[in-house]
Amino acid sequence: MALIVQKYGGTSMGTIDRIKNVAKRVKRWHDNGHQIVVVVSAMSGETNRLIDLAQQISRTPNPREYDQMVSTGEQVAMSLLAMAIIEQGIEARSFTGGQVAILTDDTHNKARIEDIDDAKIRAELAAGRVVVVAGFQGITSEGNITTLGRGGSDTTGVALAAALGADECQIYTDVDGVYTTDPRVTSKARKLDKITFEEMLEMASLGSKVLQIRSVEFAGKYQVPLRVLSSFDDNQDGSFDDNFRQNVGTLITVDEGDTMEQPVISGIAFNRDEAKIVVRGVPDRPGVASAILTPISDAHIEIDMILQNLSTDGNTDFSFTVNRPDFDKALAILANIKADIEAKEIHGDDDVVKVSLVGVGMRSHAGVASKMFQVLAENNINIQMISTSEIKISVLIKEQYLDKAVKSLHTAFGLDRTEGESKIAGL
Ligand code: ASP
Ligand code: MG
Repeated sequence: MALIVQKYGGTSMGTIDRIKNVAKRVKRWHDNGHQIVVVVSAMSGETNRLIDLAQQISRTPNPREYDQMVSTGEQVAMSLLAMAIIEQGIEARSFTGGQVAILTDDTHNKARIEDIDDAKIRAELAAGRVVVVAGFQGITSEGNITTLGRGGSDTTGVALAAALGADECQIYTDVDGVYTTDPRVTSKARKLDKITFEEMLEMASLGSKVLQIRSVEFAGKYQVPLRVLSSFDDNQDGSFDDNFRQNVGTLITVDEGDTMEQPVISGIAFNRDEAKIVVRGVPDRPGVASAILTPISDAHIEIDMILQNLSTDGNTDFSFTVNRPDFDKALAILANIKADIEAKEIHGDDDVVKVSLVGVGMRSHAGVASKMFQVLAENNINIQMISTSEIKISVLIKEQYLDKAVKSLHTAFGLDRTEGESKIAGL
């Protein structure tokens, strides 16, 4: 017997028929003797619909009231699922985040979980019930409802799994696992059986949308075994044996350090949401970088890649990237301080993307960067900026070359699915 937390996303809960299917899956797991806690997202589209209503009242709705309202999507979903499970002949009860004491700080709209009192859930499980919990929400010590940020149900699932010491947190979604890259860009993308927390965190931060970033951080911190799998694949019957552990979805685990077995690169992430800003001809002296970047970060604009050129005649060029939605705002801020920082020219380009190779195997392999640059050169793709960390290398390139870059790197680093290898696990 195992204690499993299963989280179902909006697509998996999207219609009454799908909710009934989720109930059937929960029944199979329950019938196999496992204790099941289910975390649900709102039915697909519902959270957007609610946010849209709020925005018809105000561009910046009152944060407390926003949380009161937007948390209702999950509350509808949890009760519908509990009803459907009960129809399967199994005892089930649904609870809001507040009812199972998911305590958060009071940062409305993006609250952080501080504590979970697991006693109530344990008592329900001990009584043989399936426990269904609304994702995405918590409660403050003062009793106000909070929400955890878009995609926050993943974090609810992981946090509950950590608090309960669950054997596994299963994230059911509309894809059957984590892929080497987005299968929409290359049909040769391959499902990964395993990936480390660190790699998954990089993939999520660099643009892979499979899991909310914070849920991966949380899972890594508390070492919760996390599995991404499809809610549309009926081959999972809850027989929780070694075979199951190896074959279904993608398991996200700690790095066991067996670098011999590790591929050098696990995946290629990319982010279209990039814009580059170049500040030309600023005096090359202490304080320049700070004078340029401080007003940007004061405006809560996130800065990503940074590049300063070698100086010529005591002047230098300074470039950095921001998220595309912040591009105009960042340019306007710089236009205001242009004279103060003695810049000759400021220009930008929001037609760029970031492509990143991710892999813990990089730590023990030299030459990954040079091979990456060589592959891009062979494809006539110009690199505008580079940034690296221990387990990733990112380059900024023109958006028009994105597909070509991803496809050729995917092949060059041996990630392509081989002929005949099934795309779907276990088939
Ligand atoms: N329903 C929320 C959202 O759409 C939370 C979630 O789905 O994880 O962002
Ligand atoms: Mg989601």
